[in-house]
Amino acid sequence: MRVSQSLIPIIKENPAEASIVSHRLMLRAGMIRQHSAGIYSMLPLGLRVLNKVADIIRREMNAAGACELLMPTMQPIELWEESGRGGYGTETLKAVDRHERTMIYGPTHEEVITDLFRRHIKSYKSLPLNLYQIQWKFRDEIRPRFGLMRGREFLMKDAYTFAESEEQHQVQYDRMYATYFRIFRAMGLKVIPFKADTGLIGGDQSHEFQVVAETGESAIFYDRALEALTSADEIDVAAIRARYSAADEKHDPAICPVVHEDLVQARGIEVGHIFYFDDKYSAPMKALIKNRDGVDMPVKMGAHGIGVSRLLGAIVEAHHDEKGIVWPVSVAPFTLGLVNIRQGDASCDAWCDEIYARLNRANIDVLYHDTDERAGAKFATMELIGVPWQLIISPTHAADKMIEVKCRRTGAVEMMSLDAVVERFLVSSL
Ligand code: ATP
Ligand code: MG
Repeated sequence: MRVSQSLIPIIKENPAEASIVSHRLMLRAGMIRQHSAGIYSMLPLGLRVLNKVADIIRREMNAAGACELLMPTMQPIELWEESGRGGYGTETLKAVDRHERTMIYGPTHEEVITDLFRRHIKSYKSLPLNLYQIQWKFRDEIRPRFGLMRGREFLMKDAYTFAESEEQHQVQYDRMYATYFRIFRAMGLKVIPFKADTGLIGGDQSHEFQVVAETGESAIFYDRALEALTSADEIDVAAIRARYSAADEKHDPAICPVVHEDLVQARGIEVGHIFYFDDKYSAPMKALIKNRDGVDMPVKMGAHGIGVSRLLGAIVEAHHDEKGIVWPVSVAPFTLGLVNIRQGDASCDAWCDEIYARLNRANIDVLYHDTDERAGAKFATMELIGVPWQLIISPTHAADKMIEVKCRRTGAVEMMSLDAVVERFLVSSL
């Protein structure tokens, strides 16, 4: 993508409306813009990161045997009357259509998925089943704030699991638990799971995944031993569970922490939530399956959410420095930023055009800073945006057909040929 053909409205000063670093940097880097409290446009850079985050989630969910579909944003209120949840209170946005029917903009999709399930699945033979979507939600939050962290309109991955028995459900639950670690790790985040309140959605078994960050909205307490367990290469779900049980005997970390030397006191950003609610929706909505004894019984369900747009904020909280964002490569809007430091110089322009064309052919994400801004401003922009490597082209480099490659994270600089750059940055070698 060429900067001259995109919409990247950089802000030099700190915007007054942003009180936390991720919000500030995402506004300054021209990734997002607010239209109304908690309602944002994703500008081209923000959208690219959002899509990369969503793709990581898809890859891991599909690998875990889940299957993607897409449900509507607008839902008939009748489904909510049937489930007995009512209108979900004041957080729900309602609209009346031309036939005077009340619709709601989905804050979550348990009712719709349960409706789909009951219309098509009748037997235990079709189970286990895990269906998910990545879809916009609307919740009329009392205090939308912190940019994408607490929006009113936000993107969520919501998976719904269906099981014939507690045992089958437990396998699904544990698989989601382990999958969540893989998802968050692939985007450079360290998460800690917490036993959670089942809240409005209800149920028995529930865990929240929190990213530790000073600006997090939740106060969290966790056993120091969990840090090692949750950073291990292979996540051992049973070991983490055992540690929690041991910790629970000493104190209840979620409810009443007894501060002692092994307990870390911190703040967290909730990026994911998994829970089991058994037949809470399937019983009232009559989503019945024939079990192995030929008896009709309500299917056992779980729901597993991830705050996809909130993750952008969480990743920036974890990866930034005084110059701007430092994206992990896997979610960076572009892998490379091409900086022509003498735009208008025929040899620089020609060399940059050649590099740009070759990288695009090789399918390597590159943002070409091709405007006539000063070199210093271009570097500052690339650093603020957080592109992991800059390719810097000066007249000398153009004459030598060489490329100066600068790493955003370390500042290390290397001279490379175009062939070497292509080889180094092919997706398969990253
Ligand atoms: P919170 O306690 O933060 O309001 P929640 O318990 O209401 O979250 P869930 O219903 O479990 O959230 O939704 C699944 C995920 O969606 C959450 O783990 C969170 O990451 C994300 N999420 C929830 N509300 C918002 C919001 N207003 N803005 C952005 N992301 C959100
Ligand atoms: Mg909430």
